[in-house]
Amino acid sequence: MATGVTHLFVPGPTNVPDVVRRAMNVPMQDHRAPDFPDLVNGLLADLRTLLRCRTGRVFLYPSSGSGAWEAAITNTLSPGDRVLMSRFGQFSHLWVDMAERLGLDVVCVDVEWGAGVPVDEYERQLAAEPDIKAVFVTHNETATGVTSDVAAVRRAMDAAGSDALLFVDGVSSIASIDFRQDEWGVDLAVTGSQKGLMLPPGLSILGVSDKALAASAVAGMKRCYFSFEDMIATNDLGYFPYTPPVPLLHGLRASLDLLFDEGLDAVFDRHHHLAEGVRRGVAALGLELCATAPEWYSDTVSAIRVPEGVDGVQVCRIAYDRYRTSFGGGLARLAGHVFRIGHLGDLNEVSCLAALAAAEMALADAGADVAFGVGVAAAQEYYCSAHPAAERSV
Ligand code: PLP
Repeated sequence: MATGVTHLFVPGPTNVPDVVRRAMNVPMQDHRAPDFPDLVNGLLADLRTLLRCRTGRVFLYPSSGSGAWEAAITNTLSPGDRVLMSRFGQFSHLWVDMAERLGLDVVCVDVEWGAGVPVDEYERQLAAEPDIKAVFVTHNETATGVTSDVAAVRRAMDAAGSDALLFVDGVSSIASIDFRQDEWGVDLAVTGSQKGLMLPPGLSILGVSDKALAASAVAGMKRCYFSFEDMIATNDLGYFPYTPPVPLLHGLRASLDLLFDEGLDAVFDRHHHLAEGVRRGVAALGLELCATAPEWYSDTVSAIRVPEGVDGVQVCRIAYDRYRTSFGGGLARLAGHVFRIGHLGDLNEVSCLAALAAAEMALADAGADVAFGVGVAAAQEYYCSAHPAAERSV
């Protein structure tokens, strides 16, 4: 049936609120006009609030999140630098791949897909190899629905006496899950516009500590388009070194206003509440998450293992073709084994119930033994009995 809206439950791009969409519908404007800095300066200041960083700087690049990955590396490291990374899903894998292709000497700790950053192993490696220059953390592995403990990595670095730079991929966590750049001593915090910020893809955001800025003055990797130096020279005047994606900047203004109106802590509570309902529904259906233990559960995406004999690719295909619902598919070695419900951005309880209802139908059509309504009912029970902290007084 080609009627009704298509329901978007991929873990990015996420649904764009109407107010944000309308904010982007602007006549084109001169990005070198005298009043353009009013927009830019406000955004750069408010992004610091989002990242919870009072020190350092924030850069905005016209790229997807991967561009900020590259900006972080090429501005602060030198070819051959030894760095510590871990791989436990497709996105942590891609960052390792980028680091290797850019010429870093990567110590990669491979972890079961379904767990997260191996903090104890990081501490052991850092104590054994004091010359490690950077430590990488994928805060939320979108492929497996796993959130790692960045604060614990910082503690491990301190315990090992490491003065390495701490790089964090917050593409599917920032603006949805608690993130504290200053408090956790994050030197480079990467995110993109199309997830928690509820914007179209095309903007990446990079929070950079004072220590990382100092490192960029001596780092030997080549960079041009992503150069911090060029960015600083123009940002200081309220402009960019090249033509910025003006409509996205207006959208970002609107999305930050929405997030701050709701309150960041309330936004994080809402994501936890919605995710927990989805998890209850998944459990009631007798299905398992890819995340192997509650400590890893992600509040932005659930990767759900399909039952034996059921093809996860078919589940996604049926959901899309018959029920106009987009789920995330399994990536790389998880292809066919999981489907993913993104529960981040502009959504509420009823959105998540719709996702579970569509999942029940698509699973049944793909051959799974499903008792209709069981997953939805478990989520309904949870949603009715537990409201996010911010709404308890209502
Ligand atoms: N890191 C994570 C955790 C992601 O989920 C993604 C994309 O989904 C990326 C990095 C890459 O970001 P982009 O596709 O915006 O380049």
